[in-house]
Amino acid sequence: MARYTGAVCRLCRREGDKLFLKGERCYTGKCAMERRPFAPGQHGRKRIKLSEYGMQLRQKQRAKRIYGVLETQFRNYFAEADRRKGITGETLLVLLETRLDNVCYRAGLGRSRTESRQVVRHNHVKVNGKKVNIPSYQVKPGDVITVKDKSQGIQRFKDIFEVTQGRPVKEWLESDLENYTIKMVAKPSRDQIDVPVEETLIVELYSK
Ligand code: SF4
Repeated sequence: MARYTGAVCRLCRREGDKLFLKGERCYTGKCAMERRPFAPGQHGRKRIKLSEYGMQLRQKQRAKRIYGVLETQFRNYFAEADRRKGITGETLLVLLETRLDNVCYRAGLGRSRTESRQVVRHNHVKVNGKKVNIPSYQVKPGDVITVKDKSQGIQRFKDIFEVTQGRPVKEWLESDLENYTIKMVAKPSRDQIDVPVEETLIVELYSK
């Protein structure tokens, strides 16, 4: 599946919020939102009052950008969430949160979601003992993600763990980075998904 390859800090500046798309840099003074906290482009400093549609659109863009998903795939997630029982907005976020690349990121197998996505794409992980290199793979409660024997101990993971080992891990995951193992113990609930997105506005947008 295609992915966004442009400048990522522009995305945070457009949303007017830190989306933490770059790993360590996001926590330093080099963050573009610290240095230029206004929208990119010639008219970026102007204050614009958003219409109702504008606010809905911004929330959708935010969610897409945080999880690194493009429009068509995002629409498919919405259609799936709408089809399932339960609150559509919450189901949408759960579907995004349980993507394999996001689960790896949450458990410390990447300093950013982009890096976790690459770890998956480069065939470093297995799910329940089987090779899976699809970032959008849906992880289910009980699934165990491991790093392939051949990939354990490589410099890349040493660099990643140096940054992620002290990070708190979400309650719905168990992460044993010393043994390169992650387990999803439960499905995340909305209050366990700490993304700055108002999903109800996304539902309103797509329900027009
Ligand atoms: Fe966003 Fe991180 Fe860039 Fe800051 S450094 S603007 S948080 S991607």
